Amino acid sequence: MLFPLDGLGPIPLPEGDDEAPLVLGDVRAVVLERESEDDYELARAAWAARSERPKSAVLGQLGGRPAWIQADETPSCPSCARTMPFIVQLEEGPDHRTSMNFGGAGSAYAFACEPCGRALFLWQC
Ligand SMILES: [Zn+2]
Repeated sequence: MLFPLDGLGPIPLPEGDDEAPLVLGDVRAVVLERESEDDYELARAAWAARSERPKSAVLGQLGGRPAWIQADETPSCPSCARTMPFIVQLEEGPDHRTSMNFGGAGSAYAFACEPCGRALFLWQC
């Protein structure tokens, strides 16, 4: 699904400890955190070191540059043929009960061409 940015906002976290994810059965609540490092893998490692948690607890990135597991598969827009801007990278997550399945230790990538209202989602493992 592709939503216009205007009017969107994060939903509030459930009551609880702001420092740790709140596990609600088979649902996981997360916090958006910013790192000063531009490179995703370096930012992920920095976060893990600072938070003393595993890198697998990082569930992805908003914006930035995709950290491809395999070759660069940046798509072209099927409508205008321009290179599609990168939107988000998602990781499977550290817990099999709540993980997304991107082929086993995979990552997923979403791209969107806002003028054309088109988006593409792909994954690699
Ligand atoms: Zn387009």
